[in-house]
Amino acid sequence: MRRLRRTKIVATLGPASSAVTTIAHLFEAGADVFRINMSHTSQARMRELVEMIRAIETKHARPIGILVDLQGPKLRLGTFAGGAVTLSPAETFTLDADPAPGDATRVHLPHPEIFAAVKPGDTLLLDDGKVRLTAVETAPARIVTRVEVNGKLSDRKGVSFPDSTIPFSALAEKDRSDLDAALQAGIDWVALSFIQRPEDIAEAKKITRGRAGVMAKIEKPQAIARLDEIMDLTDALMVARGDLGVEMPLEKVPGLQKQMTRAGRYTGKPVVVATQMLESMISSPVPTRAEVSDVATAIFDGADAVMLSAESAAGQYPIEAVATMNRIAEEVESDPNYRTILQAQRGEPEATGADAIAAASRQIAETLDLSAIVCWTSSGSTATRVARERPQPPIVAISPKLSTGRRLSLVWGVHCVVAEDAHDQDDMVDRACRIAFRDGFSNPGQRVIIVAGVPLGTPGATNMVRIAFVGSDVMGDV
Ligand code: PEP
Repeated sequence: MRRLRRTKIVATLGPASSAVTTIAHLFEAGADVFRINMSHTSQARMRELVEMIRAIETKHARPIGILVDLQGPKLRLGTFAGGAVTLSPAETFTLDADPAPGDATRVHLPHPEIFAAVKPGDTLLLDDGKVRLTAVETAPARIVTRVEVNGKLSDRKGVSFPDSTIPFSALAEKDRSDLDAALQAGIDWVALSFIQRPEDIAEAKKITRGRAGVMAKIEKPQAIARLDEIMDLTDALMVARGDLGVEMPLEKVPGLQKQMTRAGRYTGKPVVVATQMLESMISSPVPTRAEVSDVATAIFDGADAVMLSAESAAGQYPIEAVATMNRIAEEVESDPNYRTILQAQRGEPEATGADAIAAASRQIAETLDLSAIVCWTSSGSTATRVARERPQPPIVAISPKLSTGRRLSLVWGVHCVVAEDAHDQDDMVDRACRIAFRDGFSNPGQRVIIVAGVPLGTPGATNMVRIAFVGSDVMGDV
């Protein structure tokens, strides 16, 4: 089975997509990676979902990616004596260390580390930004605020501090336990929520030790301020527009999305654009024109993947939502402007053998109008560097490691095949041609370019290109 588009689709699983038949239909409709959101999923359920996805993968003999999204340090208020209060503009409201139930003048903030981090003038956002406060006075166990935007507050509502760097890790105790369970279940990518600093990525990487790719969700201004350092450490990026639009003015989100997509293109690290992409499809079988345009913009910008959240997790039309994204991607990618934009935004190759060869393979494949670029890749890095070039011909990545094939399912344009490593260079050429033919990329008489690191199986040793004819004897076993 080959997709007729290069941009990948990430579909979040939830109550609307929890049956194995629905997940199979989502895959058939175009989902390349499934996201399990640990804010709403128990560890036992996560394991069941992983098993179901792996069964679908075996049936289709195609690697499927699994992205586990950790909840992160979500900060919450305490409770109120009456369950809820309504704040009025310009009133004073205090958050303090007293665990007693709150009222219209105060509430418990059960995170003592925050009191020292907040300064007068800092903004506090409550209940996804519906209520806004400004700190006017701070003390070791108290923040006195003025109500800027009023509204109702009820027990344990979320609170965020867009102006303050809070001195704790992006991995709360629940996240560490969920991460452990996810790694044991053999997932491929882990997304870190509410990261603030590059150290948050380093901390997660110490735990994952290469067993899963680490994806930084960018949803806080503190992370935007250190984006370059975060890019250096992370394996992938998510433009988490939901919380980003709470923590920053909404009108800044489109520009930040472009900045992040471009950073991903330059560094060659996959970027996922997420949240509210086809939001109206939660309850409607067709999206709005604006939503179609939003998905198209992310694709024109060269994002690696576009993501569905509630549309596939809790909506009435999960399969239609994936099919809609699939159609938008196919259409955009056949627009002549698509290639022009991708070319205009291509970065120079880094001064490494892998990048020089990736750039050369694109140039050769486009000049000679070759039918595919076939990468033999152990860790996936050769295929990822070729994908960074956004070549016109399709990229076929052959890896002996199932984990590599699964991880590459997120990367722009990479068709992943898991196959035994080549025995020698003749075998490498022969099977590259057979696989390119079998999977519908090349016909006898066409040529492919093969990119590899010799000796085979040495991660990071990309050092070879070879142009090969697809002969008339390519049918049969690979
Ligand atoms: C987001 O905020 O855009 C996001 C993807 O995160 P979550 O769905 O976990 O809130």
